[in-house]
Amino acid sequence: MPKITEEQIVTLVKLQKIDIEAQKLESFLKGIPDRIEILDERLGKFVHEVEDDEKVIVELNKKYRTYESDVQMNLGKIQKSHVKLRSVKTNKEYQSSLKEIEDIKLKNSKIEDEMLEYLEQIERAEKDLNQRKQSYAKIVDDTTLEKDSIKQETEQCKQKLAQLESDRNAVTDTLDSQILDIFYRVKAKQPDAVAISEVKNSVCQGCNLNIPPQMFIELQHRNSLKNCPSCARIIYWEDQNKRPE
Ligand SMILES: [Zn+2]
Repeated sequence: MPKITEEQIVTLVKLQKIDIEAQKLESFLKGIPDRIEILDERLGKFVHEVEDDEKVIVELNKKYRTYESDVQMNLGKIQKSHVKLRSVKTNKEYQSSLKEIEDIKLKNSKIEDEMLEYLEQIERAEKDLNQRKQSYAKIVDDTTLEKDSIKQETEQCKQKLAQLESDRNAVTDTLDSQILDIFYRVKAKQPDAVAISEVKNSVCQGCNLNIPPQMFIELQHRNSLKNCPSCARIIYWEDQNKRPE
């Protein structure tokens, strides 16, 4: 069983704290590309919606203009029929020309009704588009703000990590390499990467299981490196009366 001093135990606990903090920051940094992707997707979705709205309006206007030219064409037909009316010879021909004119007029009036409906649809679609464009402008602003804040958070996070890195070097420099090896070997085997656990009232705080009474007595001497028999973490005992508040 390797020897360990009280000071080394305190240093290992310190190292553990630095590692945990660094892991948190690293996983925070790892999540940043996803956060940016979500923001970009939201923006992209809005761009598509605006484009779709614009397409709908273009289509509606196209149909409206088709109707408009139909009406013009029909007006031309009516004019021709009026000319024809002047040269008809029989009453039957006269009646049939009149009927022709009436039919075309009826057709035009139907088309004009539809045109009115199209105008209303265009108006509604333009209103929707305006609203969407306003929301879009807000989302562009929000996205810019959020990206700025992500950038700041990233910077702060990187600075903290650099600080932790130098803290870690300062701590590991004071540690015996054999103890450091054991610490990192134990850490690599733990799913939560926690290598050292306090034992309180005979209970390992890493796995919540009791350690054997003899081991607990030895642990309280604080002079040899021990591992929890259940979870294999390095264990230590802290004198509650001496614990600094
Ligand atoms: Zn344990």
